[in-house]
Amino acid sequence: MRKDLMDILACPMCKSELELKVDEEDGEEVLKGSLTCSKCNEVYPIDDGIPNLLPPDLRKAAEAQSS
Ligand SMILES: [Zn+2]
Repeated sequence: MRKDLMDILACPMCKSELELKVDEEDGEEVLKGSLTCSKCNEVYPIDDGIPNLLPPDLRKAAEAQSS
């Protein structure tokens, strides 16, 4: 995901701003990292450049289905 996407991304739970933590980047592109909500402390992973902004309970359900 591009870093300027941070301007439009918000926590799906409480609509607060997210804090970006970059583990791996390529220019303006974040390849790996996480988005943390400062309000509800939920952490959303970024994998292969794609932010996973599913609420945690939906995310667990999706993971359970794919495995
Ligand atoms: Zn939140």
